[in-house]
Amino acid sequence: LVVLSGVNKHFGALHVLQDIDLEIAQGEVVVLIGPSGSGKSTLCRTINRLETVDSGTITLDGRPLPAEGKELARLRAEVGMVFQSFNLFAHKTVLENVVLGQVKVRKIPRAEAEQTARELLERVGVAAQADKFPSQLSGGQQQRVAIARALAMNPKVMLFDEPTSALDPEMINEVLEVMRSLAAEGMTMVVVTHEMGFARSAANRVLFMADGRIVEENTPEAFFTAPRSDRAKDFLSKIL
Ligand code: ATP
Ligand code: MG
Repeated sequence: LVVLSGVNKHFGALHVLQDIDLEIAQGEVVVLIGPSGSGKSTLCRTINRLETVDSGTITLDGRPLPAEGKELARLRAEVGMVFQSFNLFAHKTVLENVVLGQVKVRKIPRAEAEQTARELLERVGVAAQADKFPSQLSGGQQQRVAIARALAMNPKVMLFDEPTSALDPEMINEVLEVMRSLAAEGMTMVVVTHEMGFARSAANRVLFMADGRIVEENTPEAFFTAPRSDRAKDFLSKIL
């Protein structure tokens, strides 16, 4: 569904992505882990062209990602993105946050968009908060709204960049629960996370990144019990 081939990117002298080849199949849940600065966020961001690449190609559903313009906006809408900071529109209600993109980007009539928004808010467990503003919600609730907002664009793939890192411990699970159910429903997902329990239980594949490269690629069982590379062993010994 998503194919990166020979992707390279520099930030000045820093070679942040080095010859990345990656294929993500329909319905697959890929967890991306690795030390700080290894390029995980940058990799996610290239998948929807929030970052440009210096060389290599990225295709979504067989179509190359255009560099800019209307076509890019359309393709980008097929890639849902959820960040560590929830990035909700602060001056819009929860419902409006989930309605807006549907109306503006997907040109869906407002009544239908509201119906969809209410269903999605129900699905992530925050239907009762529909008429509140983001600041009136807990972090876990805000992040679930952010997930609903991304889903409202009917994405083919969802990217999660440390979605629970900014949350208080008691709210982490409610967000992971929503992600687990999405995974179980067959959503294609790329998840950057330090939640190893989630990686073990929900991932089909773990990618370990270091210094801009995918150093190791494995099933979660194999990765956590018998990592092959020294970098991964070292990393796991620090976090487990
Ligand atoms: P973390 O776990 O801390 O989130 P990460 O694996 O997501 O790290 P990236 O955010 O992708 O890492 O950053 C990789 C490297 O690129 C880092 O050294 C970072 O400082 C650098 N970098 C990221 N964005 C930019 C930018 N816009 N301009 C210059 N350097 C950048
Ligand atoms: Mg990051």
